[in-house]
Amino acid sequence: MIPNQRTRHTLHRLGNLTTAARDAAWARVENAEALKQRAIHARDRVLADLPANLEQLEKAARSHDVNVLHANDAQDANRLIIQTMRELGVTDALRNHHPLLDEIQVDRAAKANAIQLTPLHPGDYLAQLANERPGHPIWPVGHLTVEAISATLQKKWRIPETYNPDHLASTVRMPLRRALLRTHTAILGVDFASVEDGVFVLMDNDGHNASLTGLARHVILLLSIEQVAATLNDLDALIQVFALSAWGRPLPAYVTHLQCPAPPEIDGPRTIHLVLVDNHRTDIMDQGFGRALRCIQCGACHTVCPVYEQIGGGGYANSPYTGPIGAVISPLLLRSDLGEPQAYLCANSGHCQAACPMNIPIPDLIHAQRRRLAKTRPPKEDKRYFSIWRRLISRPRLFFPFIRRNLEK
Ligand code: SF4
Repeated sequence: MIPNQRTRHTLHRLGNLTTAARDAAWARVENAEALKQRAIHARDRVLADLPANLEQLEKAARSHDVNVLHANDAQDANRLIIQTMRELGVTDALRNHHPLLDEIQVDRAAKANAIQLTPLHPGDYLAQLANERPGHPIWPVGHLTVEAISATLQKKWRIPETYNPDHLASTVRMPLRRALLRTHTAILGVDFASVEDGVFVLMDNDGHNASLTGLARHVILLLSIEQVAATLNDLDALIQVFALSAWGRPLPAYVTHLQCPAPPEIDGPRTIHLVLVDNHRTDIMDQGFGRALRCIQCGACHTVCPVYEQIGGGGYANSPYTGPIGAVISPLLLRSDLGEPQAYLCANSGHCQAACPMNIPIPDLIHAQRRRLAKTRPPKEDKRYFSIWRRLISRPRLFFPFIRRNLEK
């Protein structure tokens, strides 16, 4: 669906603000290119022999009393989460903001199994209230206007009409604070892990991960298999590059390190369970798209993309991986009806590659993805779509009202 003009204006503003913050932050880094190269090398180094690195991570994690589980796909990951929760005897949990949790659709799986799963990030919570999916890896509701947020809260909670952003933010936070104080179990997407030490890193700017790992008695960590680094030193480069490109800051405000369950005398989880999620990432490498797995989900390529600016995250067929990198990986990660159309949401501007700190050749990979899909799709289907398009475009009386109706909403 094409967003209305007000939402497109919001997306445009989001793009300008985040790009300016990112450019200014990178400009202050001495030897920025060397830092990017360190991060790229850190990722390429583990991808070159991922099975051996994962084996080492598993060994390190087990030596710290972490219960390690393996999920081949999203269904598997959800099954392991639900099974672990049943074994722990818990029926509710809080989750952090992480694209991997959206990728496996953990909220849906929890609901189907009568588990109450609440997102602690106000953006995710708002998206849930507004019946939307997060549209950006860092700014999940960056596309929503203050008016839309206010309307959602007025409708759901009957709050008095207000357009004060601070008031709206504290209104959303209030029930989440209460839920946090009650929580026993946290389901957390992990940003990075260090293979050598079995350390899991979670980053944010509001302290949600630190609160969750401090208060929850049981923690279920989800890690996608490529988000690993060989050493803590390698992790350091990835953390800095992420913070600079995602938030325009030299470092995240909070970096939570988790290695082992806490002893009874101090705060922290009593049990830690780790689910290592493949979900077609091995296929991505086998099919020659391995460089896409350098992605650290900083979202920088999204806000510079002219297509994303027009259609927002909602235009990407409800995929959790939106924007230019979504066009590369969604066709390989998701069911074909959800993922494949994304490969065609690209206008060849090349801005994404320039913005990507991990130097992923996104335009080349999108072209390669289209070539791969063209080989797999029956040519008849293409012919049918082109014939519909030809008929529509050659009849201005049909074509222009259709475009106007969508653009002027
Ligand atoms: S492709 Fe690059 S810019 Fe885009 S989210 Fe991944 S790391 Fe960030």
